[in-house]
Amino acid sequence: MRKLSELAHLDGKRVVIRCDLNVPLDGTRITDDGRIVASVPTIKYLVDQGAKVIVISHLGRPEGAPEAKYSLEPVANRLSELLGSPVAFAGDTVGSAARAAVTTLERGGVVVLENLRFNPGETSKSEDERREFASKLAEFADIMVSDGFGVVHRKQASVYELAQLLPSYAGFLIEKELEVLERLTKSPERPYAVVLGGSKVSDKLGVIDHLLPTVNKLLIGGGMVFTFLAALGHKVGSSLLEVDQIPVVTEYLARAKQLGVEIVLPTDIVVASKFGADAEVSITAADAIEGSPFGASGLGLDIGPQSAENFAREILGAKTVFWNGPMGVFEIDKFANGTRAVAKALTEMNGFSVVGGGDSAAAVRVLGFEDSQFGHISTGGGASLEFLEGKKLPGLEVLND
Ligand code: ADP
Ligand code: MG
Repeated sequence: MRKLSELAHLDGKRVVIRCDLNVPLDGTRITDDGRIVASVPTIKYLVDQGAKVIVISHLGRPEGAPEAKYSLEPVANRLSELLGSPVAFAGDTVGSAARAAVTTLERGGVVVLENLRFNPGETSKSEDERREFASKLAEFADIMVSDGFGVVHRKQASVYELAQLLPSYAGFLIEKELEVLERLTKSPERPYAVVLGGSKVSDKLGVIDHLLPTVNKLLIGGGMVFTFLAALGHKVGSSLLEVDQIPVVTEYLARAKQLGVEIVLPTDIVVASKFGADAEVSITAADAIEGSPFGASGLGLDIGPQSAENFAREILGAKTVFWNGPMGVFEIDKFANGTRAVAKALTEMNGFSVVGGGDSAAAVRVLGFEDSQFGHISTGGGASLEFLEGKKLPGLEVLND
């Protein structure tokens, strides 16, 4: 893989750097700046080398047109604070504002261009459209540095096509993320446990397929629990359920048994009368969710206290743990206990702990844990999962000679 660390002579060069600055926002307030912080070392290095630095990223999921709430301007401001030097912001991505900002960049100067996804070419299914958008970005620079680990599993214009149009190199964040993930795939110290949760159920179920042969234990929480419970024949009320995935999960359960992998499911669930901070709550056995006072309208929004304790014990007994996906709707305090218990156990375990995923990383910080309490907090959820699955990631492949 071509690496920035092996590249000399950046002085005066125009360098476009693809970062993943997709941070959670509450209005214009950044609720977790972890991804910006993680991008700083490479940007700072480019600045110190005298490069003219053009930072590009997406934020949220705008659909190919500008939407004020997804502007990268607050991110540019935060980046400036973290760098301790001015950062310019261009109000478009490849238009006249961007061109003007790039042209006036001085050695060691930094500009953040507006959200890539305000342009339909960024995520277009048409290779021609992606390439056309990428060529406009390529005009701005001499060199491309790819450092947005969170997006390397996506074949998108700024990740894939741009890297083909310019001499391209992996930045320090990508190097660091790969070092950690390779440690998990090559020879993890055992017992090796993976904890999965979150809400992107069908996305994440596929991971299980590939993880089963490599892990010792699989702990399941979050939204995907209910598809497992349904596969065991239990009713799950109005909880998140992917009916069409039930046969897939049934097969996983059978294969896990064959392989001697223990799938640990919650035994109790925090069932809510509705989605919201003012919901009524009942702790119910996982196999009797509809037995809660809310009947079939009950919503499972967290693993219960007994499950949280059990999950924590399993984590403390492991030597390697990878965790992706909150155990419940941690954004609401009533439903944050499962996630808190898992995070706490990861900080206390005697071994190597890795947290991956945008919301999972945000969760541990919002719940008051420090990055340094974990072995590693990955900036990529989907990307780290696909890496662990052994898939080839287009944004990394394109950086290979
Ligand atoms: P990550 O970004 O870490 O990969 P996801 O994006 O898959 O994680 O999922 C994060 C979201 O999952 C959180 O916003 C959380 O509220 C939600 N979630 C967790 N458990 C449940 C549940 N039981 N029902 C609905 N949503 C859930
Ligand atoms: Mg997420």
